[in-house]
Amino acid sequence: MIVLKSAAELDAMHRSNRVVHLALNAVAEAAAPGVSTAELDSLAEELILSEGGKPAFKGYRGFPATLCTSVNDEIVHGIPSPKVQLREGDILSVDCGVILDGFFGDAALSFGIGHVNGVGERLMNVTKRCLDHAVEAVGPGKRLGDIGAAVQTHAEDSGFGVVREFVGHGIGRSLHEEPQVPNYGQAGRGQILKPGLVLAIEPMITAGSWRVKIDDDGWTARTEDGKLAAHFEFSVAVTSDGHRVLGLEE
Ligand code: MG
Ligand code: MG
Repeated sequence: MIVLKSAAELDAMHRSNRVVHLALNAVAEAAAPGVSTAELDSLAEELILSEGGKPAFKGYRGFPATLCTSVNDEIVHGIPSPKVQLREGDILSVDCGVILDGFFGDAALSFGIGHVNGVGERLMNVTKRCLDHAVEAVGPGKRLGDIGAAVQTHAEDSGFGVVREFVGHGIGRSLHEEPQVPNYGQAGRGQILKPGLVLAIEPMITAGSWRVKIDDDGWTARTEDGKLAAHFEFSVAVTSDGHRVLGLEE
């Protein structure tokens, strides 16, 4: 079932996503060589609680933390740990979910620790651009396949892989609502997007093959070939005249 949100509900979702972005910005600011992913997790949790929200991932299907922190060849769902100390040149992908006043927010970004160049820098830039193209493809009367096609075209034209095993999703009073939002597909195909639909769009792009393996912890998803991965996510509402990226300053 697809749940369309009212204007007031979109404002509430803007506020929950605002807290997500505050947490992501604070984490990006604090991340540096020698800092552990567990320290970043504590920082995010304290900020979310101080804003009146609750971490959405903690306890979700048993996930133990506020953030997913995925380093280098880890794509998504990495578990923060005091043992994971960031190093100069790492790529860190941080995913954060918040529930505030009954509505979920969900967003992610990748950034370099210290100086990152070469393929890592290009991968992060291309992945962010994939998300931007996907957002541009959102509007009333557009189709779900337009989003996946926008991501896939830019990623593959750049020589990178598109992860198939994980997809974006509807979001609202539940963290994961219908529909699923693949990062691949054909323009002009799939469901028609209607005002009030909110989609968490989240390209996961790899520097090599798109194939994934899961660690023994049951969560951490990494590239099968050990090549770098990046992940960006926005929660995006379909509006009567286009789209609104929830949680960004307006
Ligand atoms: Mg997320
Ligand atoms: Mg998500």
